Amino acid sequence: MSPTDVPRQREGVQGQPPIECDDCESALDATSRGSVSFLLLEQLAVPLVGCDAHLERFVDVCGFTSDETPDLLDHRPAGGVRCPSCQFAPHSPGHPVVPVQDGAVALLACPEHQSETIGRFHTGLETEQQLSASLDGLSQ
Ligand SMILES: [Zn+2]
Ligand SMILES: [Zn+2]
Repeated sequence: MSPTDVPRQREGVQGQPPIECDDCESALDATSRGSVSFLLLEQLAVPLVGCDAHLERFVDVCGFTSDETPDLLDHRPAGGVRCPSCQFAPHSPGHPVVPVQDGAVALLACPEHQSETIGRFHTGLETEQQLSASLDGLSQ
């Protein structure tokens, strides 16, 4: 740490809640160093940043919205990112992050695919809740 480093604030950007998961936090810090994973689901190939546990959780939840099983790659997909806008989405701090349990996952995608993926994540969470609710009902 050099003396010119500005102390970071834990409040996060744009009033977002602080990230409790240290692994996610350091993964998000490392964005500029290129540790990017990829969610592959149907037509989507979305660059993601977060810790392994919360990335898996995010991808699992997105999988509830599809018949296909999502893939999580820790490297660029063989065919590259199909969407040119996603491919050149800026890898900058302060991009929107999606809270995942006590962590957070950043989507380094164009606005269109960002909102599609976030929409899937929220739909997936609802589906999961409905599934577990109906399972609870059966076991009682
Ligand atoms: Zn995490
Ligand atoms: Zn895109």
